[in-house]
Amino acid sequence: MPTFDTTLISRIQQANDIVDVIGEHLSLKRKGREMVGLCPFHEDHRPSFNVNPTKQIFKCFACGAGGDVVKFIQMREGLSFPQALHRLADRAGIKIDTRPQTTDHRHQTQEEADPNEIARANAWAAKYFAANLAHPEKGKDARKYVAERQLSDESVKNWQIGLALGADNDLLNAARQKKIPDKLLLAAGLVVGAGSSLSDKFVNRLMFTIADVTGRIIAFGGRTLSGDPSSPKGSAVAGVAKYINSPTTALFDKSNALFGLDHARHQMVSSDTGVVVEGYTDCIMAHQFGVSNVVATLGTSFTAGHARILRRYAKKVVLLFDSDTAGLEAANRALGVALSSRIDIGIASVPQGKDPCDFLLAQGKEPFAKLIEDAIDVFEFKWTRLNANLGSQPTIAGKKQAVDEYLDAIATAINAGNLSPIEKGLIVNNLARVMSLDAKEIHNELNRRASRVRTASSYSGEADEAHAPLDLGEGLSANAQREIIEVLLAHPSMFDDVKDKISPANFDIPALQQIAQAVFQTLGEQPRAALSVMCSAVEDTRIAGLMTTLEHDGAEKGNFSKRLADALVALEHTEQQRDKTASTKGDSVLDASKENRRNMGMI
Ligand SMILES: [Zn+2]
Repeated sequence: MPTFDTTLISRIQQANDIVDVIGEHLSLKRKGREMVGLCPFHEDHRPSFNVNPTKQIFKCFACGAGGDVVKFIQMREGLSFPQALHRLADRAGIKIDTRPQTTDHRHQTQEEADPNEIARANAWAAKYFAANLAHPEKGKDARKYVAERQLSDESVKNWQIGLALGADNDLLNAARQKKIPDKLLLAAGLVVGAGSSLSDKFVNRLMFTIADVTGRIIAFGGRTLSGDPSSPKGSAVAGVAKYINSPTTALFDKSNALFGLDHARHQMVSSDTGVVVEGYTDCIMAHQFGVSNVVATLGTSFTAGHARILRRYAKKVVLLFDSDTAGLEAANRALGVALSSRIDIGIASVPQGKDPCDFLLAQGKEPFAKLIEDAIDVFEFKWTRLNANLGSQPTIAGKKQAVDEYLDAIATAINAGNLSPIEKGLIVNNLARVMSLDAKEIHNELNRRASRVRTASSYSGEADEAHAPLDLGEGLSANAQREIIEVLLAHPSMFDDVKDKISPANFDIPALQQIAQAVFQTLGEQPRAALSVMCSAVEDTRIAGLMTTLEHDGAEKGNFSKRLADALVALEHTEQQRDKTASTKGDSVLDASKENRRNMGMI
């Protein structure tokens, strides 16, 4: 498990205001000093979900979910603690270095590089490439290709299309003249190699600039111009990749980036739909024809990372495949992404084996818009393909097999996705419609399968058990332990009265012991640390939820000094009793374990 230093966790928390982050997922209304909304973790009919801007904590008073901003993202997006930290670090532009020690020189160089510096180097390179393309002599052949593809001058300008020359280290030499350090060019992925043997990464290629949502250039994609002129589509000569992208840098990761996002975001918001194509020119051509909610993946299939980006702008995503690549496999992946990312995905394909660019040029805007409009919901797409595979007249056994396969895929995805009951309900209704079966039947069938998948994997089991109450034990000792935790969470300065008397080892209720460990560790390092900081010392979302409950109960009860003193006495007393029993009875070990078992219960 990667460990995160507490300073880094605090930095990430502070850079991600909980009201802003949660506000991106649900609508919050101000109520007194808190913000309230419908809880996304249970079927909420009245706003039970509270967000406290001062404490930077959320709390649902109906289902008990609660914690800091990291816990919210863990629960909401079904992520592990480290994944959620990474997500929030990205959101705030904080760089986390959790890569294992590497001897790869290039990786080290990239880690050291400042993303802003890389963006500046890229901006310079984009201008340089654009000037090459515009150059009367040097850019002549490339401009011919651009004209053949019918990309307009305006598109070339708006999309900052450029040219990497075939000449030896053209970019590297130009950059050195401009006093741009080699190290930075390496970190940006514009050159490759090491030491004195550096060379240009992109050679004789038409260059597409890849920007983030703010328009900052994060990478490049290059299409080879060393094409075979006799081939109708100008396919690459042997040994030369048709397309290459910048490598992963401090600024760029292709599975989490989309081409054209900066151009498409506004139209995605107003149409509530994002269209995803597979090629740079497909994307640019769509915009050239006035369909401007289109983005492109960068040589990867559509991932949950892409879905999360698009979900910020649109409720629905249409994946537009070239007809020859549209397949069940792509739909299967998309189905998983749709379920785990809670986004509607439609699937559309271009007829007659054309790519979207060709289709637009041949048919125009309206038929293209119609393709998108007629996209088939991914559930339905998968279902019809499955049925078609079983032959045109599926037998009952055949149909059962199709149903089995389909429901298994969905049950697995549901478990992975950590869905709320409402979301599950929507899926069941959707399936009932698509499969022409009774919703209740599907619901039962999914539940049966989901629990089977869950037993197979203990990790995903966490999802549905998230709301089962944790056992806090009973009896004098258990109550005393709970009281101490309540006081420390609600009034951390009382830690001074506790720290020399007891330790987390005095807590034998597992859930309370986990909290005690977090509390003792955090308050030991940071006296009077806030609840949100203590929450971030546990990774388990249920434990964090319990912490917010106990803090709330503790604060309601007040009377901290007296309660703490009484609880410490009670705990000491029960421990003395236990020791006494142990020293006078021969079967003491058995007795002690019996008592423990009574107190513990299962987590
Ligand atoms: Zn709730």
